[in-house]
Amino acid sequence: MINLAKKLEQIDGKGYKAYKQIQGSYKFPDFELLIDYVQGDPFASPSKIRILIARSKTAFLQKWTNSRQRKIRCEDMIVREVFQAISNLKNNVRGSGKSGLIMIDKPGQKVLERTAVQIGENDITVCLSIGLPAQGRTILGKEAKKIFFQLLPEILRHSVFSVKGKDIECAIQLCDQQMAIRSYMKERGIIAFIANNSILPRASGVSDQPLKGAVPFQSPKEMEVSIPVPHRQEPLKGMAIFKGITLIVGGGYHGKSTLLKALEHGVYDHIEGDGREFVLTDRSACKIRAEDGRSIKKVDISAFINNLPFQKSTKSFSTENASGSTSQAANIMEMLEAGAKTLLIDEDTSATNFMIRDARMQALIHKEHEPITPFIDKVLQLKQDFDVSTILVMGGSGDYFSVADRVIKMDHYKPYDVTHEAKQIACQIKTGRKHEGGEKFGEWKLRIPESGSLNSRKGKKSKIACRLSEIQYGLEKIDLSYVEQLVDESQTRMIGEILSYIERTNLFDRRLTVSQLLDFVENKINQDGLQSFSAHHGHQGELAYVRRFELAAALNRIRALKIRE
Ligand code: ADP
Ligand code: MG
Repeated sequence: MINLAKKLEQIDGKGYKAYKQIQGSYKFPDFELLIDYVQGDPFASPSKIRILIARSKTAFLQKWTNSRQRKIRCEDMIVREVFQAISNLKNNVRGSGKSGLIMIDKPGQKVLERTAVQIGENDITVCLSIGLPAQGRTILGKEAKKIFFQLLPEILRHSVFSVKGKDIECAIQLCDQQMAIRSYMKERGIIAFIANNSILPRASGVSDQPLKGAVPFQSPKEMEVSIPVPHRQEPLKGMAIFKGITLIVGGGYHGKSTLLKALEHGVYDHIEGDGREFVLTDRSACKIRAEDGRSIKKVDISAFINNLPFQKSTKSFSTENASGSTSQAANIMEMLEAGAKTLLIDEDTSATNFMIRDARMQALIHKEHEPITPFIDKVLQLKQDFDVSTILVMGGSGDYFSVADRVIKMDHYKPYDVTHEAKQIACQIKTGRKHEGGEKFGEWKLRIPESGSLNSRKGKKSKIACRLSEIQYGLEKIDLSYVEQLVDESQTRMIGEILSYIERTNLFDRRLTVSQLLDFVENKINQDGLQSFSAHHGHQGELAYVRRFELAAALNRIRALKIRE
């Protein structure tokens, strides 16, 4: 500590490069400071530091972290506390560019495993980014001292050190409850649960915050279940969606898409006060949508598409510019390949000709002249052959009444069970459709990606940059704008790290199928942790957990992807 103060005094007024001298570790009375990386100038991305705190000085007892999920919850809590403490800080550090900046990887409404805070057996590690202060390129040593000797201790005093056991207990209880509901669901074949009084709509299209004054969710009696949960007397009541085919119908603007969106996000756990704490979906549920323009590499889409013009093969279909329907077919096949057990589909983001094909059209355009087998003729087979469920929003066509196990009507943001009515109508008003999907869904080929699919080189340097919806990987831009269950920029960074790991370790040379590759990554995350994919040691504070499905989505959107013959 004295050491650091001395160094800062010595380099005060010198050129920015001299800051490199402060890399290293320093003992403070209440924590240890590790300066892992020093930025090149005050405008470059900020320096990386870690703070190590003995758990014994905090309220984070062993019992709060005795399972992985509980530990994640505690870590999440610390990140939020530190973020809050930084926001409340009176930070008057002077200087140019990012001088004085103090940052932690900020979580949103979801609880994700993150590297920003890591709780170990005896220590808590907090990863921060800070802008080392300078005027132009001249080091402002006194200002830097302010950061290390005033601001950091103050942040910790108001966060890690001041968290009370009672608050931790609250967060842990919510965690236990969510876990209990998820395992209850698994045991009983429930793929989605929405507790009564949940708040589904969000404040705006660009916000994940709850909408104020929203109509709370209320399950129809026919679909209501009571789930016993720990830490509360009464069981939790709400709507259960079981495995199978579930249709969401209703007039425009009555809340159909909002319901489906909430289910998409239900693969993640939400924080207290979000309104979706008890909106929980099968962790392997995947949103499927049309995405014209994307590239597709040797995907077997023959279950849905056949006899394309000029005999283009669909057993191993590639394109640089997919159409609405082919992209939606590929999205389904790729998510099945990755292991999805529930598909979530909204008419708003689907290709119409992929979803429906009515009797009149069947009469006018004969099957031989229509490459597409619509989803309606395959959805039942997905269920029967592979135990894959579908939850589908469809307000524009009643053809699905015949295949649905459940029909939910949204009316003024309230759900009603109209299964019986819909089935009656299906009996009374025949669609006159012919089934075009054959007997079986059909098998698909396992794909094996090849080395050379990934090249992070951009000229002489390696370059990987991530935004929420895009990864710049060398010369390749991987477009993730339509990967809707990717919700946090740190998840995208995680994908970037994983891809880089795959490239670095020549993982593709092991000839793993896509699904084996995803298993490998998933196991490595579970065993060695998120940061284990990184080539750099020390500070890895901006990564968050990503599902195998979003990783697969990124892999599949690489335009240079090569698949073995
Ligand atoms: P649909 O898909 O049926 O056309 P949306 O789900 O897009 O309808 O919802 C239409 C609008 O209603 C959206 O602006 C949405 O935020 C709002 N909304 C949805 N559910 C609720 C609710 N429970 N309370 C208040 N507003 C809601
Ligand atoms: Mg809609």
